Amino acid sequence: MELKITCIPGDGIGPEIVTEAKKVLNSVAAKYGHTILTKDILMGGASIDVHGIPLTDEAIADAKAADAVLMGSIGGNTTTSPWYKLSPEKRPESGLLKIRKALNLFANLRPAVLYDELADACPLKKETSEAGFDMMIMRELTGGLYFGERKTVTENGKRVATDTLTYSEDEIRRIAVKGFDIARKRRHKVTSVDKANVLDSSRLWRNVVEEVAKDYSDVTLEHMLVDNCAMQLVKDPGQFDVILTENMFGDILSDEASMVTGSIGMLASASLNDTKFGLYEPSHGSAPDIAGQDIANPIATILSAAMMLRYSFDLDKEADAIEAAVKQVLKENYRTVDIMPQDSAKASQMKKVGCREMGSLIAERI
Ligand code: NAD
Repeated sequence: MELKITCIPGDGIGPEIVTEAKKVLNSVAAKYGHTILTKDILMGGASIDVHGIPLTDEAIADAKAADAVLMGSIGGNTTTSPWYKLSPEKRPESGLLKIRKALNLFANLRPAVLYDELADACPLKKETSEAGFDMMIMRELTGGLYFGERKTVTENGKRVATDTLTYSEDEIRRIAVKGFDIARKRRHKVTSVDKANVLDSSRLWRNVVEEVAKDYSDVTLEHMLVDNCAMQLVKDPGQFDVILTENMFGDILSDEASMVTGSIGMLASASLNDTKFGLYEPSHGSAPDIAGQDIANPIATILSAAMMLRYSFDLDKEADAIEAAVKQVLKENYRTVDIMPQDSAKASQMKKVGCREMGSLIAERI
């Protein structure tokens, strides 16, 4: 199979971690007989330095021409970098908003997985972390409170602010379909999270999700109120497979879920549109504080590449191979500095490696 991938190395540690993900992809391609065609484009600060803007129309066209986009991260030190002296629409992050809009990316996927070998980093009770968890938070990305009408007015001498939360049934249906499709590739369970005891938008959400569920009799659906879900994520995260939710609830719950894994350098993410196309990137930022030192953890980006194979190319076996290789290097006690155990006795049993070596170790184990 020919895989056309546009890469956005971006800023900070972005180029380092994308290089390692490409190394692993090439290893997968060699083993399974695929051809990988990559093209790099500039975005964020790297594009500002060359073109004066964070994303050009040519770069968008290159992204659209590919089957999927693999991104490192964009942005610099927000207090010292000259990029942040520019007006907001010219700063690095506006490139990200622009590409999400141009590619119509409405579904955000963030897996939160606790690896046995990193269970010590989990801030939850020992019996909870020992049970482990592997969930996928699926967040609607282009509707709801963040995109509704807003205003601040003065009434009777007092300021009054209003935000509106609107969802149409089509917006709910398309993300629900994605959620159920993804559950079919996992453990066949969807937990739809809403606040249907209070909000009309949530009642519509629940109704439409129920309608979509009729086409997926092999997937179990449950509903959960968002406040309960926030509690369950710390009490019993192992119960979740796919959590399907709207924009703001998903924003908050996905950060909560990633914190309970305890390891920011391990967390992948994807943003999808209504075709197989997706943009895949680590959940973390560009870490300008460690850029260029060969100490960044490339695993989140490598696992994002695995998601790309699974969701944009339906190459499940190849994605499994990457995930297994990541587990294997952890089992062999290789660690980048961010995932070293805090305990010095345990740390002394680990083999500390840099970004490049971690990428090579994973590529070799494919
Ligand atoms: P960050 O995630 O870049 O860094 C937070 C901390 O985690 C830092 O100490 C960093 O060294 C560490 N860290 C992050 N990724 C790591 C990795 N792979 N390996 C080892 N350590 C890692 O968050 P921040 O410092 O708040 O933001 C830095 C820049 O990244 C900002 O310009 C921000 O706007 C940008 N950002 C971009 C994206 C994106 O491109 N999608 C997302 C978040 C932040």
